[in-house]
Amino acid sequence: MTRTVYVNGDYLPETEARVSIFDRGFLMADGVYEVTSVLGGRLIDFGGHLARLQRSLDELEMSNPLDAAEWLEVHRQLIARNGIDDGMVYLQVTRGNPGDRDFAFPGADCAPTVVLFTQSKPGLADSPAAKAGWKVISLPDIRWGRRDIKTVQLLYPSMAKMAAKKAGVDDAWLVEDGFVTEGTSNNAYIVKGNRIVTRALGHDILHGITRAAVLRFAREAQMEVEERNFSIDEAKAADEAFVTSASAFVMPVVQIDGVDLGDGRPGSVATRLREIYIDEMKKAAL
Ligand code: PMP
Repeated sequence: MTRTVYVNGDYLPETEARVSIFDRGFLMADGVYEVTSVLGGRLIDFGGHLARLQRSLDELEMSNPLDAAEWLEVHRQLIARNGIDDGMVYLQVTRGNPGDRDFAFPGADCAPTVVLFTQSKPGLADSPAAKAGWKVISLPDIRWGRRDIKTVQLLYPSMAKMAAKKAGVDDAWLVEDGFVTEGTSNNAYIVKGNRIVTRALGHDILHGITRAAVLRFAREAQMEVEERNFSIDEAKAADEAFVTSASAFVMPVVQIDGVDLGDGRPGSVATRLREIYIDEMKKAAL
């Protein structure tokens, strides 16, 4: 199927979409992105993703090329033109094409590059993986120090994902100075009794949009939430664990470095939070 994609104001067949070889996104990973899930043709937590996009752009001194209404319109157009029921919309803004390669940022006359496309994922919310849970391994976190900015610089997360696949598991939890930061593309949590523990926000993790919603729902459901560091050893001794992201929602984690958590099956807290998250976010979808 030839998708319709969006590039700098135009809706084009994917085969006709073009970006310059001088684009700083291509040469220097000088760009930011967002991924918004689509369920039943509607956008999940769109406002959260737009707010984080603005923050990422601000941190990199890039201007926002579209306003909120325009972003929503492009997302909706792509969902409609590609007949997306369940799936995602990917958006990327780079600093654009300054004409030459240069480490210094170009001036304001260099227009950003804006690219959006869809990926169809039928049955996204009923993934069989959520019933089995994920197995993870731990790996050192050697990413840069501003992981709170959602840049397209994803080589190490991609390498860590491959190391996990080669080890026969689903993902990797990254560890820095003895404590878990996050998964390759998700935030990480452990559960002991009625208490959920997850790393506090800072420069060392991405401020997950799903994280914010899930912690709100957990508190509303009278679960205790503790935002602090935890180690892999503490995680291995937990009752259960899970990760969150816009595309995996709440995904139970059942094994860490070969050690089963509890009975090795998805725990009740993760399972309940997944149900609450999907129900509530579908109700509020745009
Ligand atoms: N951490 C990292 C490193 C990620 O790449 C992602 C997914 N973009 C997340 C956390 C989860 O963020 P969100 O819930 O906004 O998808």
